[in-house]
Amino acid sequence: MNNNFDKIINHLKSQGFVFQGSEIYGGLANSWDYGPLGAELKNKLKNLWWRFFVKRNKYNIGLDTSIILNPKVWLASGHLGNFNDPLVDCKSCKSRWRADKLIEEKFPDVNAGVLSNEMLEEYISKNDISCPKCKKKDFTNIRLFDLMFKTFQGPLEDDSAKVYLRPETAQGIFVQYKNSQRTSRRKLPFGIGQIGKSFRNEITPGNFIFRTREFEQMELEFFFSPNDENNWFDYWLNQVKHFITKELGISTNNFIIREHEKDELSHYSNKTVDIEYNFPFGRGELWGIAHRSNYDLTQHQQFSGEDLTYLDQENNVRFIPHVIEPSVGVERLLLAILCESYCEEKLENNELRIILRLPIKLAPYTIAILPLQKQQSEKARTLFEDLLQYFDATIDETGNIGKRYRRQDAIGTPFCITIDFDTENDNCVTVRERDSMHQERININDLKSYLTNKSNM
Ligand code: ATP
Repeated sequence: MNNNFDKIINHLKSQGFVFQGSEIYGGLANSWDYGPLGAELKNKLKNLWWRFFVKRNKYNIGLDTSIILNPKVWLASGHLGNFNDPLVDCKSCKSRWRADKLIEEKFPDVNAGVLSNEMLEEYISKNDISCPKCKKKDFTNIRLFDLMFKTFQGPLEDDSAKVYLRPETAQGIFVQYKNSQRTSRRKLPFGIGQIGKSFRNEITPGNFIFRTREFEQMELEFFFSPNDENNWFDYWLNQVKHFITKELGISTNNFIIREHEKDELSHYSNKTVDIEYNFPFGRGELWGIAHRSNYDLTQHQQFSGEDLTYLDQENNVRFIPHVIEPSVGVERLLLAILCESYCEEKLENNELRIILRLPIKLAPYTIAILPLQKQQSEKARTLFEDLLQYFDATIDETGNIGKRYRRQDAIGTPFCITIDFDTENDNCVTVRERDSMHQERININDLKSYLTNKSNM
């Protein structure tokens, strides 16, 4: 694995951002838990998304639907039957691989997602692709693997009780589209956003938290009239770009925007664009923006028998709205932000400084209070408890001050506040900024407004 990626993963584990799932039992393959700092960062990221895409957008409202839905939802959406990956087994070591990913690993420029199953098989045999595990070249033909997680609801474990864990949050939105529109008295265009867990029985999970079987999605379904002449696809693509670059601070050099070719499109989409981020292990899909046409609502109308048309009162016409969907995984976005902000600096004394240059809005702690010596401990605690009412704060009283600065840099705390011998006389503290290491003396009475200004910059 990429050396830099290893360093980032180890750093995140050692600092309490991410833990191996079920670790004391030897773990559970590809499952991850979020530690005290990771949970905080994840919540902040979700809040930021919710604020930008739901609360502060004049068109949108929010929703929170169940993970387990009536199984007919998945028949209507096309997931039962269509939601599968092309797999090959290595006949020699019995390992199982996604055919398209095998090709793309060896030939990163090939877009194997557009190839039919026959073409995938032919490509693998003609290009001498071998099993990554045992290096043999003896694969089975492709078989399709269903990605839906199944379980049973209630005491019976037979087909009548079979239900599925949702593989995307979007369908909950479509199913509650009519109720949401009616109760919020929305007119088109409007959008419904949702954040929640999704489950896919992925064949090749991996690359740390990039691809897991349990993950969270932040999805927006934006409904509009097919006669609306606004280019809503570009509008949402630009909103996503703005969010990534301006709110999250991700550099435009580190991602590309790739439009799907016709045969790569999902069964429901007539245009899809992926934002692909340069992860340390290679480029990977971060955020998908899909034109889902009126496919989902039409299907649900047909399968449920409910009228899901919209009445355009001005023109007195009824139709099924069309949909643009920007969809992103919380953990994938988190990984991109963490890779983007991880940085190593050699200091003058040759010491290594690891910094997470997280946007201030996302840092688990905005400030850390550091009393220089034991004598300042009481004052520091009083200040800590006071500032805790307004900021996400922590206090660190152990180790020399240089070490404590390093500790806060490593978890991305933007401001360290040091209380020293002079504080008793001048009521001032030293505020040190994470990125520039610039230090400034500030009166304690002005601290709250100083930090408020700085954190809103
Ligand atoms: P991929 O090609 O990587 O499997 P996809 O095209 O199936 O992804 P979508 O169905 O478009 O993904 O899902 C929307 C978003 O949800 C993705 O852009 C990604 O951020 C996230 N996502 C999808 N699958 C996973 C997963 N297994 N683990 C983590 N995040 C995921």
